[in-house]
Amino acid sequence: MIVRYLEADQTGLLQEKIVQVENELENCTLCPRRCGVNRQAGERGYCGIGALAEVASYGPHFGEESVLVGDKGSGTIFFCGCNLLCRFCQNYEISHCLKGECTAVNEHELAAIMLELQAKGCHNINLVTPSHVVPQILAALPHVIAGGLHIPLVYNCGGYESVETLHLLEGLVDIYMPDVKFWHKDSAVQCAKAPDYRQRVQESLLEMQRQVGDLWVNSEGVAERGLLVRHLLMPGGMEESTAIFKYLAEHISKNCYLNIMDQYRPCGKALVIPGLEKTITVEQYQQAIKSAEENGLTRLDQRDPLLLYEKLIITE
Ligand code: SF4
Repeated sequence: MIVRYLEADQTGLLQEKIVQVENELENCTLCPRRCGVNRQAGERGYCGIGALAEVASYGPHFGEESVLVGDKGSGTIFFCGCNLLCRFCQNYEISHCLKGECTAVNEHELAAIMLELQAKGCHNINLVTPSHVVPQILAALPHVIAGGLHIPLVYNCGGYESVETLHLLEGLVDIYMPDVKFWHKDSAVQCAKAPDYRQRVQESLLEMQRQVGDLWVNSEGVAERGLLVRHLLMPGGMEESTAIFKYLAEHISKNCYLNIMDQYRPCGKALVIPGLEKTITVEQYQQAIKSAEENGLTRLDQRDPLLLYEKLIITE
């Protein structure tokens, strides 16, 4: 399957999109925070990032979903900053730009990173927390195309997206991977100061599904196009998890590929939020799997720990 950004390049759509996004940073409303700051002039809004994208790290990653990892890993690029800024973030230092680990990159440098990941054999380019750097990613695309990039682009986000920005990505992104985090307004406010999270994530899921459809996996078990939904289980959050599964089954697709993640641990400021000092129990994880299946969702990501260990050993 030809990747979407190559098709867009051939039809002229890519150039149109780059022109559309060109001035977005001057009055930034890329995400639902709608800060209106001039990032081009060096101002920074809620996400903490200015004119240039900043990268914390990159490389083949074997801890992602089985359909992204394949044999050679998913080519992850961890962007610094975030438009959601969850207080329990599992990558707190990176998202909150705390440790000076961030390197600013221009479009040529970002393109070079993507090409290096492809050269290492990665099955895809996995853009981690990309919502606030969409213009910078688009600016890199002509350079990666000139350099021969031909693997799928994965938009790996927190689900707090603006539909207008998703329209800019239509025809360019191959795989959308939102993490649907909260359902209740109280949780979204307490954990991420995002009272409209549920509305925004519902709109985003509908738009992503419209653009790319159910996840399509090739004969080698590697995803090439579609929607892959993540859900990080939260301590005591079973009711919200069930509501999310129900929404996915009824409004997105019963064929929706879902990764129910059990790796929550208290990070960042989690300890100041009552209840979030705990971890996920085996019972809660099993209950979540059962709930997803009862709602009709059967494409659940399966990770084989032994297989993962073997891949890590081979890579070393
Ligand atoms: S991308 Fe950043 S600056 Fe722009 S609206 Fe969102 S949080 Fe604000």
